[in-house]
Amino acid sequence: MTVYLVGAGPGACDLLTVRAARILKAAHVVVHDRLIDPSVLALIGPGTLRIDVGKSPGAATNQEQINELLVQLSRVHERVVRLKGGDPFVFGRGGEEALALRAAQVACEIVPGVTSALAGPMAAGIPVTQRGIAKGVCVVTGHLAHGDDDYLRRVAHPEVTVVILMGVSRRGEIAKRLMEGGLLPSTPVAVIERAWTSSQRVVRGRLDRLAHLEVRSPAIIVVGEASALDVVSVITEEVLVH
Ligand code: SAH
Repeated sequence: MTVYLVGAGPGACDLLTVRAARILKAAHVVVHDRLIDPSVLALIGPGTLRIDVGKSPGAATNQEQINELLVQLSRVHERVVRLKGGDPFVFGRGGEEALALRAAQVACEIVPGVTSALAGPMAAGIPVTQRGIAKGVCVVTGHLAHGDDDYLRRVAHPEVTVVILMGVSRRGEIAKRLMEGGLLPSTPVAVIERAWTSSQRVVRGRLDRLAHLEVRSPAIIVVGEASALDVVSVITEEVLVH
């Protein structure tokens, strides 16, 4: 009778919180997204019902249907887990689901997760803040669904690291807006594909060449001086583009 909105972290199952793993094991039903790593799904008990609500971007179940599904499942099952990649409240629509559950008077608990927005850059050895280089970090969507991309001009600042999620397919436009906002064409960028999974890949370059970098979704785009850093070596494959 409780729905748990649980963050699955960015990939590998040992990046899950202990609380998330405990709740996952005790779940009666798990409703999950497309980007959940198989190692995390393997933690779900054999008798637990699993529902995949995001098979591919085009064919994904729409949000209203997911909200309704969670409400219906909570009427039948004691512990319903809504498992989301990264953190449930960072572009996961977890906030919308929580509101829908509240409107239906369904008890809801939230479990934070390690967000790819911060752990993604880290996987490439990029500290998103660094004394003398980056005074802060701004996490934004690149999914400009409604064509409203003025915020990209406004977040452009030479001392702020900009982390863009869901931005791969529109990376050229994103770079253009950030440069219109004042970032230099030579600003370093890094793209981290499938961070913290066995197929992680890192590509580095500069902002005016972002459109030409060969990268694939899901990936994190990091823009700013900090993206030129690599302070640790945990990288599986790295491509340097000049
Ligand atoms: N709630 C998630 C984000 C969901 S939006 C979180 O906190 O991480 C989905 C986007 O997240 C993807 O398009 C991609 O930009 C990013 N993403 C999620 N997991 C990723 C990973 N392991 N590697 C790279 N990017 C990832």
